[in-house]
Amino acid sequence: MTPDAPTPRRPTYAARAERFHPSGVRSVFDIAMQPGMISLAGGSPDLAALPRDVVAGLAVGVLRDREVDALQYQPAQGLAGTIEAIREVMRAEGVEAGPERIQVTAGSQMGLQAITTLLADPGDTVLAEAPTYVGALSIFGGLEAEVAQVDIDEDGMIPAALEETIARVRASGSRIPFLYTVPTFGNPSGATLGEERRDAVVEICRREGILIVEDNPYGMLAFDDAGDTRSARTTLYARDPENVVYLGSFSKIFSPGVRVGWVAAPVELRARVQLVVEAMTIHASVPGQLLAERFVTQTDWRAHVRRSTAVYRDRRDALMAALERHMPAGTTWTHPRGGFFTVVTLPDGTPSDGLLDAAIAARVVYVPGSAFMADGSREDTVRLAFSFEPEERLAEGARRLAEAVRSLSP
Ligand code: PMP
Repeated sequence: MTPDAPTPRRPTYAARAERFHPSGVRSVFDIAMQPGMISLAGGSPDLAALPRDVVAGLAVGVLRDREVDALQYQPAQGLAGTIEAIREVMRAEGVEAGPERIQVTAGSQMGLQAITTLLADPGDTVLAEAPTYVGALSIFGGLEAEVAQVDIDEDGMIPAALEETIARVRASGSRIPFLYTVPTFGNPSGATLGEERRDAVVEICRREGILIVEDNPYGMLAFDDAGDTRSARTTLYARDPENVVYLGSFSKIFSPGVRVGWVAAPVELRARVQLVVEAMTIHASVPGQLLAERFVTQTDWRAHVRRSTAVYRDRRDALMAALERHMPAGTTWTHPRGGFFTVVTLPDGTPSDGLLDAAIAARVVYVPGSAFMADGSREDTVRLAFSFEPEERLAEGARRLAEAVRSLSP
């Protein structure tokens, strides 16, 4: 007699497991890879501008010079040399931060996960822009925090709306652990917080006793448009280092695949972040850290950032011109002065159901704007990334998107 085959057992999931969904960006990732598809979806940097031979030389050097060190466990805060390189990158943003304030993480995504783990209890309400970074919503949802989103315009978060939201959340009895913001070349909006609003947001949060988490992966990718100045974009961290936690990343200025980012925080909080990092991954990848460090110390990294930013600027211009040419009357979009993204608002009455399918049938893919809202609203918006596709394909992508919109319009 043959024994019965063992019945496969489904694990009994924790209630929390239901809170992890495929994000709006990840769910179109495979579609974006299909041949013939034009992807305006993922916020991938253009790595064509990276000097491949130079990077290959750095990688060989990392393993040759450091021998087993590069492959061994290392201190959890991060390598001292990598922390120095990070300080140099921050200096280019006008920020001076002591090494005791820096924690290296596996991308800034992990920095935000660590901060949220430390500061937000289930049922607390994190404040964020409307719309906000979808990966942040995944973290907040996964850790059972609520999210209250604050209205923005082309000048970023509206201070009066922030004050109203704080009052409303507090009146509901929920605690606010922090304000999460992408104030410079925001994802997905492309909006940048104006100078006076920077002061106002910092002041409101200080007065209300609310910590600010400033996520700044795009700050260095400024298109230097007329009227835009770096001093107007001084980080919130530089304005109030004791009440702002800064999230930085090598993903958009070097490589997202190396998975190296950092947290700059008040000393005591930084030490706590290290404990979470140790619990999650022990420390960030050592070869990744060494590669990022050498990118800063052994290459003209600022020239690389300047070159790739010029590419992004030309791509933005190409996309904006194509939207102007092809989109139906009544369509509007944001005008980013840096970064990777614009948000397009479709004409009134465009049915949002079926638009993504129609776009994919026309061989163009984007991320629906509802992915960036905790309540799934804003179905009349789409996020377009101009960072990855070359200019002719961006223009063709906008044409195809317009065709998809028209095919659904009454
Ligand atoms: N924050 C924002 C606003 C982002 O756009 C991204 C990447 N798309 C991240 C964080 C995550 O970056 P990293 O690769 O450093 O984890």
